[in-house]
Amino acid sequence: MTMLTIPSGPYSQFRVGCTILLKSSAASTTAWKDRLIKGANVENASYPVGTCAERVALGTAVVQGVKYGDIKAIAVATDIKEFCSPCGMCRQFMREFCEQEMPVVMHNCDGETKTMTMAEVLPSSTPSILPANQSVAPSLELWPECPPKSR
Ligand SMILES: [Zn+2]
Repeated sequence: MTMLTIPSGPYSQFRVGCTILLKSSAASTTAWKDRLIKGANVENASYPVGTCAERVALGTAVVQGVKYGDIKAIAVATDIKEFCSPCGMCRQFMREFCEQEMPVVMHNCDGETKTMTMAEVLPSSTPSILPANQSVAPSLELWPECPPKSR
């Protein structure tokens, strides 16, 4: 899997990018480039109120209808030498949507990778209570129009 994300991190100066690869069975196309969902850490002046790259990517995926078991792999990249694994909050968030054997690929600044399974990243985890194959995304009827239609 190639990282295509352009990470940000204006306050922490710690840039993180995350790319999710969906299974071909979970997408309308088998082209792998069309099955990528990207995220970056999003920060603001109220630091540390921000969101990690992994949860940005996963939130985007869930809103698009991605369900537990739809994800083939998750890659995380930083621009430091060490392999950076997801934080504890992201690990449980990932576990809610990812199978135990799913690979988590960590990229360092030299383009090297280290791969662990979801179970290795978060051993003895609390399993998801989400039923398989059920989307938790809101139905489209609940989404407001912006800007509202003029009368
Ligand atoms: Zn995190």
